[in-house]
Amino acid sequence: MNITAKGLTKIYGSGENRVVALDKADLQIASKEFISIMGPSGSGKSTLLHLLSGLDRPSSGSLTYDGRDIYSMGDRELSAFRRRRIGFVFQQFNLLPVLTARENIIMPLLLDKKQPEEAYVKRLTDVLGLGGRLTHLPGELSGGQQQRVAIARALIAQPDIIFADEPTGNLDNRSGSEVMEVLKNIWEDMDKSLVIITHDSRIARMAKRQFHITDGVLSEVTAG
Ligand code: ADP
Ligand code: ADP
Repeated sequence: MNITAKGLTKIYGSGENRVVALDKADLQIASKEFISIMGPSGSGKSTLLHLLSGLDRPSSGSLTYDGRDIYSMGDRELSAFRRRRIGFVFQQFNLLPVLTARENIIMPLLLDKKQPEEAYVKRLTDVLGLGGRLTHLPGELSGGQQQRVAIARALIAQPDIIFADEPTGNLDNRSGSEVMEVLKNIWEDMDKSLVIITHDSRIARMAKRQFHITDGVLSEVTAG
């Protein structure tokens, strides 16, 4: 899936409170690309991620997925599009505490009135090393295990692209490395595009294309 963002701009507030959170960002993401976006706190990373994934709409600019104009969709159509085509991984895992790991993983399908394919559930949970943990509640799992459950949930609907917002931000170094390792394996084995937001330069460097964002201005920094 090819994603093209042109002139994406997001302005919050007005008058003295006016903030240009994102300033005319241009970005193309080809099928199966792995890109990272790095920048300090308050630089516009979350704003960019929300716009690129259709969680929010810009003040100006356009976004297409395989030529389809995302912001021309109504809210219901856009949220259905996100559920089917886009996977999200957040810093805080965002698992439902009263559901088991397995129930959390298949929840997106149930919301779409679909049944899980057992072979795919097994493949995913094997890749993510979760086989023995599927009946555990999130509170019974380590941070690294919870994030791997969240990654399985992001993949269950077989999306084309995964957006990960500081996926290792809540983990110690070792669990963070494990989570990055599984994300990279998934990117290599499952033909997904992967967009990672991070302020960790070691993680940013794992990506094939690297971007920086400073005060809302996006630029590519990938060295040859
Ligand atoms: P980052 O993710 O890099 O920390 P954000 O995209 O969250 O940065 O924020 C970029 C800028 O936009 C910051 O100056 C922030 O204060 C401002 N901002 C973000 N969201 C809002 C909002 N809902 N209302 C007003 N200002 C906002
Ligand atoms: P991480 O570094 O992945 O966040 P933690 O420091 O949270 O890991 O946990 C370390 C170990 O303790 C893990 O192997 C995990 O299985 C176990 N563990 C963490 N929290 C719990 C819990 N609430 N119940 C049972 N085991 C736990």
